[in-house]
Amino acid sequence: MNREDERRAQIEQQLRRYLPKGTARYIAGLITEEGVQFTVARPRVSKLGDFRPGNRQRPTAISVNGDLNPYAFLITSVHEFAHHFCYKQFGGRVRPHGKEWKRIYTDMLRPFSEQGVFPDKIAEAVRKHLESPSASSCSCPVLNKALALYDDRSTVFLDSLTVGTHFYFRNQSYAVAEKKRTRYLCKRLNDGRQYLISGRAPVEVIAPTAGQ
Ligand SMILES: [Zn+2]
Repeated sequence: MNREDERRAQIEQQLRRYLPKGTARYIAGLITEEGVQFTVARPRVSKLGDFRPGNRQRPTAISVNGDLNPYAFLITSVHEFAHHFCYKQFGGRVRPHGKEWKRIYTDMLRPFSEQGVFPDKIAEAVRKHLESPSASSCSCPVLNKALALYDDRSTVFLDSLTVGTHFYFRNQSYAVAEKKRTRYLCKRLNDGRQYLISGRAPVEVIAPTAGQ
């Protein structure tokens, strides 16, 4: 492994817990190839992420709030990297969320949608968004959908969930795989590993039961 591969692997490892399974490698690749300073930020109420172009003195900087659900984290990362690529191509000559940015953003988002990274309800929002990327609003319906699922989360006990439900437990996201006697076999979403968790564990639901 050369030094850049090593750095990428290290960043991928660090980002895995924030992102949907199989997507940390892509974001880590963007960070190393583009030489961007990427920060997982403490939650900010005013914004989910931000982008600051680099200059001779400092590198381009992107930050994304660390408390976002994995889908919102991915979408926000792509949103900010789209600003970077747009700035690289057009400088300050175009509007921040204008048609140039929107084209880059939707081109970056499309592969994730096609690879089945998103749960049904977000995937549907992505598909609709990609069909009409020319909408002039700055607010992103895809992100709103991902956030709505996040905002809907409420604390319940694991034993009230059905198989397939996604939930948070101790800052990690899981899917319920199988009920054992008093515990549940659960699959961690970022790496697919399986864990037995007590049915009485307080958890936060991420998304409605799959298939709804
Ligand atoms: Zn933006």
